[in-house]
Amino acid sequence: MWWYCRLLARGGPPYGFAMSETFDAIVIGAGVVGASTAFHLAKLGGLKVCVVDRGQVCTGGTAKSCAIVRTHYSVPSNTALTVRSLAMFDAFPDWLDDAEADAGFVRSGYLILAPEGDFADRMRANLALQTGAGAETFVVSPAEALARHPLLNLNDVAVIAYEPKSGYADPYLTTSSFLRAARAKGVVVKTNCPVQSLITAGGRVTGVRTADGDLQAPMVVSAVGPWTRALTDGIGLDIPLEVSRHTVLTFKSTEPYGRELPVIKDLTTANKMYFRPASGGVVLVGTGDHGDPVSDADAMDENVSDDFVLLQGGQIGHRMAPFAAADLTASWVGAYDITPDWNPVLGPVPEVAGLHLAFGFSGHGFKLAPAVGLVLAQTALGHTADVDITPYCLGRFAEGKLLVGAYGVGSIS
Ligand SMILES: Cc1cc2nc3c(=O)[nH]c(=O)nc-3n(C[C@H](O)[C@H](O)[C@H](O)COP(=O)(O)OP(=O)(O)OC[C@H]3O[C@@H](n4cnc5c(N)ncnc54)[C@H](O)[C@@H]3O)c2cc1C
Repeated sequence: MWWYCRLLARGGPPYGFAMSETFDAIVIGAGVVGASTAFHLAKLGGLKVCVVDRGQVCTGGTAKSCAIVRTHYSVPSNTALTVRSLAMFDAFPDWLDDAEADAGFVRSGYLILAPEGDFADRMRANLALQTGAGAETFVVSPAEALARHPLLNLNDVAVIAYEPKSGYADPYLTTSSFLRAARAKGVVVKTNCPVQSLITAGGRVTGVRTADGDLQAPMVVSAVGPWTRALTDGIGLDIPLEVSRHTVLTFKSTEPYGRELPVIKDLTTANKMYFRPASGGVVLVGTGDHGDPVSDADAMDENVSDDFVLLQGGQIGHRMAPFAAADLTASWVGAYDITPDWNPVLGPVPEVAGLHLAFGFSGHGFKLAPAVGLVLAQTALGHTADVDITPYCLGRFAEGKLLVGAYGVGSIS
């Protein structure tokens, strides 16, 4: 019985012994999108779900995320999804049926700073559209903004929009809470189990092939972010996806940076800098630009150039005088999975029955994930979705129906 002991120790069959397990649905990827989707499939459909990840829970793009939650978009369905997500963050334990569920959500508020000109005009017009989509957002005066964030220099800012209900969360807590709640509903989570390929037969998906054997299911949701092509290429599906490298820095000054300070989006900067509080009294600073294209999300240069640190340090010092001489305390890089319109692809693949995709979040998928998991599950189960995801279909690129809003193609979308 040596092989049986080894089977138990590894949580799977020994090498060369391909066993097959059967589920109602398989979700590939244990990032925040996969976790939310698996939870909702179990909650809404009572399905027997298996989540499978090549590594550990929350080790992909979600682990690198700044986890900012804002409603400011110019594609109405993006705002509608975030409004839905915000309601879920606000009632996280109730929604997850788990009194201990915690997303680490801090409702700090969100301020957007626009310079005079094109951006200011588009932002003014866009606020009405967002309000119509259910967002709570309005213009505030510099004095009102300073009352919420006294460290700001607003001399070069023409319009300031404010979202009182927005803020930031904790990516790991959010993801692991979804999976804990999912497990309580019978979801099986397999880690260190790379999916090698999708299995299809007769025009439909029937499961996935892993190093530990095949997993069978009539429904497969792929939520593997920048790694999506590695799976879809194998079934001849041509998906438009670019990967780019983004750097996040944290700075500490003599002025402690309180956790309650609003998130700032600074549209006066060329790289659309944003910043928010992080633990340890530091400010966390990122960019909403295109980033550096990379061919492989697993082979990104982790080094951060002095020029970039100087650029970001200069920008943050300009916006907040106490940070003009701040110390760099941490840096990391993460991959964006970018589609041609910087919006995700969501939903079923007509050519492969049972296969559902969720990729291409283009650097703004964390905030969408709670609602995306809900609407993906509703759609897959044949329910009416809270937000219609038809516009996010894969076919929109070939049909020229790109999701582009008032700001053009980019991370504000
Ligand atoms: C630096 C940075 C900052 C960001 N800041 C924000 C922000 O402030 N707000 C916001 O809304 N969004 C933000 N985002 C974007 C957001 O974090 C992502 O859109 C979101 O986390 C994507 O989640 P995911 O579950 O789709 O992908 P991931 O978290 O990347 O998960 C994919 C998972 O798939 C697994 N996987 C890959 N291939 C396989 C395989 N073959 N078999 C099995 N498993 C596999 C990986 O191991 C991984 O765990 C940011 C992203 C980055 C990189």
